[in-house]
This record gives sequence, C-alpha cells and structure tokens, in this order.
Amino acid sequence: MSNLAGKAAVVTGGSRGIGAATTIRLADAGVRVAFTYLNSAEEAGKVVRQIESRGGRAVAIRADAADPAAQAAAIDSAAAEFGRLDILVNNAGILMGEELPKITLEQIDRILAVNVRAALIGAQAAAKYLRAGGRIINIGSIGARWFPQPMGTLYGMSKSALCGLTKGLARDLGEYGITVNLIEPGPIETDMLDADGADGPMDIPLLPLVALGRFGSPAEIASLVAHLSSEEAGFITGATITADGGLTL
Ligand code: NDP
Repeated sequence: MSNLAGKAAVVTGGSRGIGAATTIRLADAGVRVAFTYLNSAEEAGKVVRQIESRGGRAVAIRADAADPAAQAAAIDSAAAEFGRLDILVNNAGILMGEELPKITLEQIDRILAVNVRAALIGAQAAAKYLRAGGRIINIGSIGARWFPQPMGTLYGMSKSALCGLTKGLARDLGEYGITVNLIEPGPIETDMLDADGADGPMDIPLLPLVALGRFGSPAEIASLVAHLSSEEAGFITGATITADGGLTL
C-alpha cells in the first residue's frame, strides 16, 4: 500500500498530457484527485472515467488558470469535496513562441497569468488547507534556462519565474513542514510538443541532442511528481529537478 493512499490532491490542467498522466498516477496510488481543465471537456471526462473504472476517485473542475478567482475557487471546492488537501500540482501551462517585435501586451499578460500567477494563487489557496507533510509541485520547463532557438522569450520568462516562486514558497511554508519543488521537464510526448510540430516556428531537431535518444513520456514526469508527493521525499524542498533525458547536458 502506497503511503499516498487516502490523501487528496489538486492537479491544474489535468485533462491532457502531463497533467492527465499525473492525475491518473496519483489516483492509482490511492489519492483522491480534483483536476482543472479549460477547453478539453471530453478529455477531462475520459480521465475521470479511466480513474473510476479502476476504483479511484477523481473530480474534473472547469477553471481557467488565468482567472484568479476561478483558480482559488477550484482549490476551495476540492478541499471541501475531500475534506482535506495534501498535494497541489501546478501543471497547467501554455507555450507561446513569438518574434520579439511582434510580442503584444495581451500575450505577455496571458502567459504570465497562466504559467506564473495561477501557480502563486493556487499555492496561496492551497496553503489554507495543507498541513505538515503537504506538498506543492510546480511544473516548469528547461525552457527557463535553455534557449537553443529564437522566440523563446515569453515562455522562458514565464518558466524562469517559477524558480523564484518555488524557492520563496519553500521558505514561507517550510516551518509548517510543507515542501515546495519545481520539476523542469525536457521534451515530453504531449500535444504541446506536437503543437510546435516539425515545421513549427520554434522547431529545431531536438531528438539528436537528447542523451537518451528519445523524448520522455508524461508517465515519467507523473512518477516524479508521485515521488515528490511521498513521505520519502520529505527532506527535498526548494529544489529544481530536471527530467530532460540529458538534453541540456
Ligand atoms: P498540453 O498542452 O498537452 O496540456 C496542457 C494542459 O493544461 C491541458 O490539460 C489544458 O487543459 C491545461 N490548460 C492550459 N491552459 C489552461 C488554463 N488557462 N486553465 C486551465 N487549464 C489549462 O501540455 P503538457 O502536458 O505538455 O504540459 C504540461 C506542463 O508541462 C506545462 O506547464 C508545460 O509548460 C510543461 N512542460 C511541457 C513540456 C513538453 O515537452 N510537453 C516540456 C517542459 C515543460 P485544456 O485542454 O482543457 O484547456
């Protein structure tokens, strides 16, 4: 029996990709999971049904991460539903590649709202419920510090902010026995990776640069989240953990 059994979690952006894999991984470990989504209602339903078919418990909540009130309300309703909250995974994120002269104020505001502000609002809301042993796990990107091609300014700016956010939160919440960590994935096989596409504006041939010679799977990030959520990871906080198959060596 996993030591995660009986806990309760919120995963933002759990309808697809890394968030869906994380939701399923935690539920398989006996965690009751609420996850947010925005546009992919059908996929969200599939995640819930897959978990329920295995005897687990999952709740899908439509909440735009860019809307602070909706983000906080999603966490409040998960805590009310489960009667507790132990784990928050700030996963929802968007990728934007844009040429510098074309970057608009709307793009700047949107990427910061979804990739950064939502994580802080989520942590603030979750901190009301988390107790000793609580966990916050932020999903950043190697794009925070690895810029092999142009047009990475918006995404890189947003993902690098999560490093300071993670460390600040780890200091603020450490005295309560709550850990806060940052996972920086490299290329993971999801819609986001596909969206950039073979001829996408930010596309460069990444595969030959990955030491392991392949892209990662969402399940591999999900299992790292599960480990950081566990009691065994209790002395890790404020850390940035890279999972990029050796891409940035
Ligand atoms: P996907 O695009 O495959 O999935 C993104 C998920 O986030 C979807 O469930 C989507 O929900 C949700 N989401 C997006 N915007 C919002 C929003 N405003 N409000 C609520 N939910 C939202 O992305 P990945 O799974 O690939 O990425 C997950 C995280 O991992 C992101 O933070 C990303 O930056 C990071 N990452 C991914 C890498 C990769 O190679 N895939 C590499 C490094 C980091 P919906 O469809 O319902 O709108």
